[in-house]
Amino acid sequence: MSTTPSKSHGRLKISATVTPRDLMSDRPDLVGAWTAKIITLFPETFPGTLGASVTGKALQEGLWKLDTIDLRLFGEGKHRNVDDTPSGGGAGMVLRPDIMGRAIRFAQKNASSDRARWPLVYLSPRGKPFDQADAERFAAADGITMICGRFEGLDQRVIEHFDIEEVSLGDFVLTGGEIAAQAMIDATIRLRPGILGNAASAKEESFSDGLLEHPQYTRPADWEGHAIPDVLTSGDHGKVAQWRKKQAERITKDRRPDLWRAYTDKSDRDAKK
Ligand code: SAH
Repeated sequence: MSTTPSKSHGRLKISATVTPRDLMSDRPDLVGAWTAKIITLFPETFPGTLGASVTGKALQEGLWKLDTIDLRLFGEGKHRNVDDTPSGGGAGMVLRPDIMGRAIRFAQKNASSDRARWPLVYLSPRGKPFDQADAERFAAADGITMICGRFEGLDQRVIEHFDIEEVSLGDFVLTGGEIAAQAMIDATIRLRPGILGNAASAKEESFSDGLLEHPQYTRPADWEGHAIPDVLTSGDHGKVAQWRKKQAERITKDRRPDLWRAYTDKSDRDAKK
């Protein structure tokens, strides 16, 4: 086992000189690549699903970087304890503020102290629900530090002392923050330049314009008696765009009255301009 409290999954690109090949490539050095620092008791769960497909390829190519920080290494005593019983009683265990504080200071050592450039996030069911705007905000930063809770979560004093932003994956309770962290990193990474093959695909999907996406179809033209809507095979791009917009509006109105209200309010405001 390594003695340093950090593990890097990125492929380090060490080059003392700039060779013509580097000048020609649009691949950025790892130094400066968007970095996710993850404080977790289970570093082995990373990169997890982020190691697959486009996010995995981008990680290998150094387009983004992952640093897991094993909370256990900051623990105390023979068993490297990180938790203790809840003050006031009750079930479960709480992550100790002194241990977590050390891990956070370690993580932040070479991160920007400007939270706009480097958000410090605790994955928590009590947090603000994560959405596409958060993904865009995280993607615009230089990197992020994410704290994965376990047991009953974090001592409140750490959250306040470091002014940590709490973000939730949704209204349900997970056993730990790792899956939430991976979901949010995935949503963030795919917005970074060079990650998705087709940059337009990120602009045209659900939430990007306040609407859910229209239905998608592909060949065969007839599948078990179900045909693809005629308009999609007509070759009339204007009509296709019109149909897709109508479908997106219908689906959003039916399924997400909250999004629909925001969308119509915005359309009204734009019309008055
Ligand atoms: N007792 C806490 C839940 C602890 S769950 C409560 O009722 O609020 C253990 C850990 O899982 C949390 O510390 C958090 O990091 C993570 N977690 C659980 N649900 C989550 C969610 N919906 N979004 C993000 N993280 C979550």
